[in-house]
Amino acid sequence: MEKFYSLPSLPYGYGELAPYISEEQLRVHHDKHHAAYVSGANLILEKMDKTRGEEADLKCVSRTFGFNVGGFVLHSMFWKNLAPKHKGGGGQPEGKIAEAIDGNFGSFNDFKADFTRLAMSVEGSGWAALAYCEMTQRLIPMQIEKHNMNIYPTLHIIMVLDAFEHAYYIDYKNEKAKFFEAFWEIVDWEEVNRRLENI
Ligand code: FE
Repeated sequence: MEKFYSLPSLPYGYGELAPYISEEQLRVHHDKHHAAYVSGANLILEKMDKTRGEEADLKCVSRTFGFNVGGFVLHSMFWKNLAPKHKGGGGQPEGKIAEAIDGNFGSFNDFKADFTRLAMSVEGSGWAALAYCEMTQRLIPMQIEKHNMNIYPTLHIIMVLDAFEHAYYIDYKNEKAKFFEAFWEIVDWEEVNRRLENI
């Protein structure tokens, strides 16, 4: 039986990330934008099934698939690395991720400043991400262009921050710096630490 992608429900209520992300902003982001990547990826899967062996434009199919499935996967990760403030979101990292941040960036505050600058410098649509490279045993801050460019198979992504306009425009308009500051109030360090420990 063929399987398709499906929109995961949020691990918290739509209003629970307020005031950092409003209910209205989160509903549009999850129910419209994330959902669109799910249906976009599934449409391409159907197209692949139907056109198998035919003269389809496989380059175009691959690009569209990469963009949509990348959007699907990154948003699924993003919701999980956020947590309402009253349920432990924000604060300081603990455990392995805290040690790795101190070792790689000097201090948590230096890391925060670097990662915020990285998000601010995303051009157009993309993500700021924190990855762990097994070969060098380093945390690598990276930018993902759109949803699917600059991703390397051996770098494990453990934290993502959506820098698309659709992530913040209802709440912050053109002041994206405020959204990136708000991120630190609702980041779920337990989840980021879990991802690092599970590599
Ligand atoms: Fe998004």
